[in-house]
Amino acid sequence: MSEKIKILGAAGVPKEMVERLEWEIGPVELLSSDGEEEIIKAIQDKQVFIVRSKPKVTARIIQNAPQLKVVARSGVGTDNIDRKACEERGIKVINTPEASASSVAELTIGLSITLLRHLYPACHSLKEGKWLKGEYTGRTIEGKTWGVIGFGSIGRRVTDIAKALRAEVLAYDPYVPDEEFTKRGVKRILRLEELLERSDIVSIHVNLSQETEGMISEETLHKMKKGAYLINTSRGKIINQKALEKALEEGYLGGAALDVYEVEPPTDQELLCLPNLICTPHIGGSTEEAFLNATEVLIRKLKEIFQIGEGAPLGY
Ligand code: NAD
Repeated sequence: MSEKIKILGAAGVPKEMVERLEWEIGPVELLSSDGEEEIIKAIQDKQVFIVRSKPKVTARIIQNAPQLKVVARSGVGTDNIDRKACEERGIKVINTPEASASSVAELTIGLSITLLRHLYPACHSLKEGKWLKGEYTGRTIEGKTWGVIGFGSIGRRVTDIAKALRAEVLAYDPYVPDEEFTKRGVKRILRLEELLERSDIVSIHVNLSQETEGMISEETLHKMKKGAYLINTSRGKIINQKALEKALEEGYLGGAALDVYEVEPPTDQELLCLPNLICTPHIGGSTEEAFLNATEVLIRKLKEIFQIGEGAPLGY
């Protein structure tokens, strides 16, 4: 029988994932917090560390993990992992971007309809006993120009749904070949400013990098059409939150929807309480289907790395 592969799981790794990992790969020890000291203590004999958007996998953790072979992020962004430190020690970093793309895309579309149809205040006022039928005249997505920033897995799915809702879709992504835009019948825009100037609804789907951090600033926000809507389900630091708050307060933007924040949980109550902002607590990838998919993808990738075949389950 193969030697057991010991796994450390971040706090909050779902029970179903732990059960499948234990059956298919090896025993899992779950952390009770995101504290660096607790992680270093527990990681000593582990070959795999499964994380979500937390905890921060620092260089210090990596340097104090003598057996570690893989850091596996259940989810997309690996910005909480010190990839350079992993590379230096030959530790593989894997993630599951394919697992949650539909969930994030559907939330993005849901947020856009919630914004354009004033669903949040309409529901809230009715629950308070007010029948304000005349106050909530909304807008349709049909006939609008939808600007997609970042034409990766999520950006492409958002495109497909927005097109089904009869929006004209423009997309900006300098790293994707022309044929991907053509295949989906999308107009490729070569300058971010042009996409912002032309779109009624803008949704952001780029990964966080030095290049994309602060990409939506006071200056770029004012390139958007007056009264346009902005949706961010990617990473909080891509938007300068103070600049967004100002643009919403001044009524320059029609509204905005955020699932992600510069600091999470967010501390900027003034922004969160603005009537033209709707917000969700980073739940883009939080669906039962995405968790299930992530488990399958992680197990497949770990089996490839450790060359585990289809035989008897390990360690049992
Ligand atoms: P992806 O890697 O498939 O796509 C990202 C795209 O951004 C790529 O095509 C890349 O070329 C493009 N890009 C990079 N720099 C750019 C730039 N300067 N300008 C324009 N485009 C640029 O990633 P994905 O799976 O589509 O995920 C997109 C984002 O969604 C990531 O930030 C991810 O962390 C986030 N996400 C959020 C949640 C959530 O719960 N809200 C869940 C999953 C993913």
